Amino acid sequence: MRKLLFAAACFWAVSGQAQDIQNNPTSNHGNKFEQLGTILPTPNEYRTASGAPGPKYWQQRCDYVIRCTLDEKAQQLTGSETLNYFNNSPDVLTYIWLQLDENEHSNKDNANYQDQNVMPAMMTDRALAKMEDQNGPDNGYGHKIRSITDMTGKTLPYTVNKTMMRVDLLTPLKPGQRFQFKIDWSYKIPDRITLGGRGGYEFFPEDGNSLYTITQWYPRVCVYSDFQGWQNHQFTGRGEFALTFGDFDVQMTVPADHIVGSTGECLNYAQVLTPAQLARYQQATNAKEPVEIVTLAEATAAEQRKSSQTKTWHFKAGNVRDFAWTSSRKYIWDGMPQLINGKKVMCMSFYGKEAYALYRKFSTRAVAHTIKTYSAFTIPYPYPVAQSVEAANGMEYPMICFNYGRTEKDGTYSEATKNGMLGVVIHEVGHNFFPMIVNSDERQWTWMDEGLNTFVQYLTEELWDNKFPSKRGPAWTIVDYMKLPKTQLEPIMTNSENIVQFGPNAYAKPATGLNILRETIMGRNLFDFAFKEYARRWAFKHPTPADLFRTMEDASGEDLDWFWRGWFYGINPVDISLDSVKVARADVNGTIPPAKSITKKVDAPMVPEFDDISKIRNREDRNLRFYTDTDTGARDFYWHYARGQEPYDAAKTFTVEEAPGVEALTPEAKQRFADKYFYELDFSNKGGMVMPIIIEWTFKDGTRQIDRIPAQIWRHNENTVSKFFVKDKEVTGIRLDPFRETADIDESNNVWNQMPAPTRFKAFAQKTGAARGQSTGSNPMQQAQKK
Ligand SMILES: [Zn+2]
Repeated sequence: MRKLLFAAACFWAVSGQAQDIQNNPTSNHGNKFEQLGTILPTPNEYRTASGAPGPKYWQQRCDYVIRCTLDEKAQQLTGSETLNYFNNSPDVLTYIWLQLDENEHSNKDNANYQDQNVMPAMMTDRALAKMEDQNGPDNGYGHKIRSITDMTGKTLPYTVNKTMMRVDLLTPLKPGQRFQFKIDWSYKIPDRITLGGRGGYEFFPEDGNSLYTITQWYPRVCVYSDFQGWQNHQFTGRGEFALTFGDFDVQMTVPADHIVGSTGECLNYAQVLTPAQLARYQQATNAKEPVEIVTLAEATAAEQRKSSQTKTWHFKAGNVRDFAWTSSRKYIWDGMPQLINGKKVMCMSFYGKEAYALYRKFSTRAVAHTIKTYSAFTIPYPYPVAQSVEAANGMEYPMICFNYGRTEKDGTYSEATKNGMLGVVIHEVGHNFFPMIVNSDERQWTWMDEGLNTFVQYLTEELWDNKFPSKRGPAWTIVDYMKLPKTQLEPIMTNSENIVQFGPNAYAKPATGLNILRETIMGRNLFDFAFKEYARRWAFKHPTPADLFRTMEDASGEDLDWFWRGWFYGINPVDISLDSVKVARADVNGTIPPAKSITKKVDAPMVPEFDDISKIRNREDRNLRFYTDTDTGARDFYWHYARGQEPYDAAKTFTVEEAPGVEALTPEAKQRFADKYFYELDFSNKGGMVMPIIIEWTFKDGTRQIDRIPAQIWRHNENTVSKFFVKDKEVTGIRLDPFRETADIDESNNVWNQMPAPTRFKAFAQKTGAARGQSTGSNPMQQAQKK
């Protein structure tokens, strides 16, 4: 029995190989299913092979106390900060690196030296001014460091390298020690609209007021980690931040009629708000609908008056990686609470009259919906407030983010403006989870926060409005990008600064990948559990890509290395082609061949056809005493036949009765077989990225059925596979990927509507106890083809 099976298997393997070599002269077995292995870092006591933080996981911490003043006339921000840096690493530190992001705007200290540009055919005055500025005298922007001292007042030496500053310690900072120091600084606030960047002012000529977004504004400590050491790659304006968690105590002195929105909770609303505003704030904390804390009328009045007094606002934030704020007398402010795990989170929005009709209606509601939905897919939102600010951009910080979406002058707005506004609010609020809480290194991997965030943004948009026209997330929306020539594609695993197609590569493709994992490869149950586990493990910590890849497998029991390899490390698109369809019916009335009586010879001794070197050396080795008979000196490994131990008579024969292993079908089985339709589908992988094969069958009666074949079908042959199906009804059409869920770039080869005439194969019953043989061990479709 075993021998027969082996022979049959051999035959199919050999014939299969021969056929494939004809079709594809190159290898059918590449590395698409090989484990990532050494591509991932070696697990250690800081990061385990399961993707979780290890027993000796550590991270640094820095607490900040900052006092600053916004001078509206001079457009200058002046600050004094005290840093309390905790060395939780096992290493002795002799210096601390800080980020001076405002140097991005300095034409002396900037890191923006690497962009190529060419002579334009047309140029605006703004572009010309910018070009001139790049080569002109010091434009005065960037951080001016006034002093850096320890707490005894001793000056600390420091070195500025473009957007990075190294502060040298007077005595080495040992593991477990902390170090307090003080930095006094100021910078000229840039015009964000003309100079670009994430923070600055926007001037409104109609009313003569500015809207300030104060971001990346204080010298911020770099991350020192087990996987990178100091993350001190320059800020070029693109790759965002790697930041350490800590507590913040910030007081900002601003014009008295400004409204300040900020990371953290305000400790002195009673001093900075009017009694009426304070009462409305109290009311908002218990409201079911957003309540205007500062009204449109109040904001419009403030725009005209322009106070010359100042007020100081005081905020505190615990366990955040950054701190940002906004200030303007233009702000209308509304709020309402959202319960998360039984705790009230104040959801609030700040916007000028230019965005009133949209933001008043949707912003705070979208904030509440976002933190509720993200909490369900990741971890419960842990902070006391979540805020959306209209600032004609899109940028995220802990508990506060800046968004766009202004109406026409009369308050009307287009569908595109509304959907854009909702999308950006959900996206930027969503960033609270990635990377503000799950604190990945943005400067290295944009996709780790943008991709994961865009994915949950998509889920959140769907749950906001089931018909929301999401631009990123659905597989079919990435097809145009994946269709580009290979020279224009780059792996998701590309460093932030090196990416050319930033939006598709860092946002859409990773988000789509996660969506494919959830809907197509893993299923919602396994995916949702594993994704939540990643967020739970790495909340308030610093994960790397390997920690995500490993956790998704560890928590789901799915080996996804092929997917990470193809979708994250590779650039191949998905294009599965349905190349041919074979149809067969069963012939159930075939006659059984009669049993045969066969005379056989006794087997001749089996001798290898080639004498390998080990056999030759054993024969020749006179020192092999162990195998030599000590009495006679005869060597024991003489061939047994030669020594007559196994007599062989070439003339001896014996007779066997060879019956076919099959018999006629029972009437019931005949009925069952005769009614079935048999299909063989042949596929080829034209795109290169392996994927599950999703087949939609349309039957003659108009009904449809879906079969899902896992991607592992491509394991033994990455280029072509065939699959045999038994159907109860006659098929009239076949379509691959009917829900467009795999980002297949060519759908023209997914459809088969002309069914060939069926061939016939003989069907028999297997004889009880008989050896499984020819008719059952082979492919009936192949037999049918041979006719
Ligand atoms: Zn983003």
